[in-house]
Amino acid sequence: MLSGGRSSEREVSLSSGEAVREGLIAAGHEALAVEITAEGRWLHEGEVLSLTPGAGLLECDVVFPALHGPFGEDGTVQGVLETLDVPYVGSGVLASAVCMDKFAFKELMRAAGLPQVAYVGVRSGEQWRLPDGFGWPVFVKPARLGSSVGISRVEGPDALEEALERAFAHDRLVLIEQAASGVEIECGVLGNDRLLVSPCGEIRVRRSRAGFYDYEAKYTPGGMELVVPAPLPSEVSERVQAIARAAYERAGCCGLARVDFFVEDPWGEARVLLNEINTMPGFTPTSVYARLMEAAGVSYPELVDRLVRLAVERFQQER
Ligand code: ATP
Ligand code: MG
Ligand code: MG
Ligand code: MG
Repeated sequence: MLSGGRSSEREVSLSSGEAVREGLIAAGHEALAVEITAEGRWLHEGEVLSLTPGAGLLECDVVFPALHGPFGEDGTVQGVLETLDVPYVGSGVLASAVCMDKFAFKELMRAAGLPQVAYVGVRSGEQWRLPDGFGWPVFVKPARLGSSVGISRVEGPDALEEALERAFAHDRLVLIEQAASGVEIECGVLGNDRLLVSPCGEIRVRRSRAGFYDYEAKYTPGGMELVVPAPLPSEVSERVQAIARAAYERAGCCGLARVDFFVEDPWGEARVLLNEINTMPGFTPTSVYARLMEAAGVSYPELVDRLVRLAVERFQQER
């Protein structure tokens, strides 16, 4: 089990890692903890690990990278694990990288014809302009991050510059997106080839100064409420699940992912908009992903166990 890491989601990852460790033990596995420090060193029982290409990691059968954000969820650690030649839970290098980069992801999903909000990518120091027909409010976000870090909702042109600066503090590439209205829906996917798609969950924000599903809402106790199954017309839930599956397959995900959506006017025209895929979503038993899977009939220890098996299955297929 790998946790910690260099990203601003380090603390979230430490909680996920501890929960995964307990889940592995509950499922009858042995678990060794490796913490990646904020400087990027890999520590096991207080000692810095030396990694040897081709030599595996601590003689373990599978690595569970319970890491979120850059240097963990973005393909970089997955690349290290490929080099070590050890099976690991979750998506490979390319899918991890594509899903972490919201701009690359959106371009790929656009090519697949999946519905999304209008967006524009802005690179630090380059000329850009809002496309015609772009209205307010907009969301400004770093391309490669998570947990809503660096994201702002912008009501009008006056506040745009400050929001861009806030996002550029985290990434040279930033997205400006049309704000979606309606409800936020999340869907869990589990599997490599045969996929289990969870029921839809609705996110209700209870505590947020920023007025959206921000870091405070995500990690303050009582900051959000998850309603599973989401109260949606069944045709709409099924459409969300079908898009979750299609996006997962298109991005080439393996193991698990949480797919985030907006549904505008759910009881009327019901426009389903794909927001993003998280290839290593928050992973404690009370995290949204685990609760969605629970609703699909998969308990936390079983979930951890199935992910370990999926990792081995993929490793064997690829050799
Ligand atoms: P996660 O923790 O799920 O990885 P993230 O940091 O990758 O989050 P997003 O999921 O893209 O970021 O956005 C975070 C939140 O900001 C959303 O859950 C939603 O509340 C709000 N948001 C982002 N983009 C939009 C949009 N275009 N329209 C409306 N709300 C948005
Ligand atoms: Mg995300
Ligand atoms: Mg995330
Ligand atoms: Mg999200």
